[in-house]
Amino acid sequence: MTAETLRTTGDLMKAGLVAPDGLAALDEVAGRYAVAITPAMAELIDPHDPDNPIARQFVPHVAELDTLPEEDADPIGDDRHSPVEGIVHRYPDRVLLKVAHVCPVYCRFCFRRERVGPARGKALAPEALEAALAYIRSRPEIWEVVLTGGDPLVLSPRRIRRLVAALAAIDHVKVLRWHTRVPVAQPDRVTDDLACALKADGKATYIVLHANHPRELTPAARAACGRLVDAGIPMLSQSVLLRGVNDDPGTLAGLLRAFVETRIKPYYLHHADLAPGTSRFRTSIAEGQRLMRSLRGRVSGLCQPTYVLDIPGGYGKSPIGPSYVTGAGDEQYRVEDYEGGQHGYPPGASD
Ligand code: SF4
Repeated sequence: MTAETLRTTGDLMKAGLVAPDGLAALDEVAGRYAVAITPAMAELIDPHDPDNPIARQFVPHVAELDTLPEEDADPIGDDRHSPVEGIVHRYPDRVLLKVAHVCPVYCRFCFRRERVGPARGKALAPEALEAALAYIRSRPEIWEVVLTGGDPLVLSPRRIRRLVAALAAIDHVKVLRWHTRVPVAQPDRVTDDLACALKADGKATYIVLHANHPRELTPAARAACGRLVDAGIPMLSQSVLLRGVNDDPGTLAGLLRAFVETRIKPYYLHHADLAPGTSRFRTSIAEGQRLMRSLRGRVSGLCQPTYVLDIPGGYGKSPIGPSYVTGAGDEQYRVEDYEGGQHGYPPGASD
């Protein structure tokens, strides 16, 4: 469809992804929240399909101008756990290091949508990065550094190599985890040089791929992930449960199977956060639990992610079920099988 990333409402109109008569409102959306659709993602959009799950994720919509009272610019409370710029230290043994402010694509449901985009500059400034590294060096309890943004794989292999060397030199840091959408959004960016740059001497490196629909796992995306896994980097997935994208059992099972086929272990299925202007994407928690039940027993155990909610206010992630066990105390436990059958299990039998 196009060889360039679509970045303006004019680009979207020329590509046939938005109608000319709605451009003024969409310009207002684009002025508030960044827009980008890479060629790899644009190719997956059928402009004649109003329900296209890829378009729904990336094409701006006028509903984004409506912020509900419960929505928040900082929906998971990063700010209250940020001791220095670029660091979020929510749990004792790990920090987020937000090294980039930009992404190859901008997701319309993004939980950091008020913080990402070219208007914020591309990356953390050198002095801020040095202060963030100094913070990590000063805290021996930090075992894992989660590199995020934006998307940290927008940085060049040269910059990534420098950053990895700085982190690898910190004795108490044992694990580097990169969260990215690049292998699906810009698969050509995943070169052997990049894979090599990501690996840290004496540390474990993991990559967590963000994808939400099985169509995102194109042959090119699968090959890009293959280059990372073949380089010795284990991959995990994270997806957001999104109305109209993956909120049906068939699509969700297809997505999770596509990950496993690509040697990516499903990790998190996020309940959509209360980010501003994103209500059209949110399901209820009960719907999410029903979908998770639809997977249990019917789709390989390898494919099962943990369904999690980031509690608003910065209280961290909690698994939100469903649960298959009730009762306790002196009573028998009641354990439910994947077809809904109920079974007793003695209390204290394993104590
Ligand atoms: S890639 Fe991640 S940080 Fe970037 S817009 Fe999408 S959800 Fe937000």
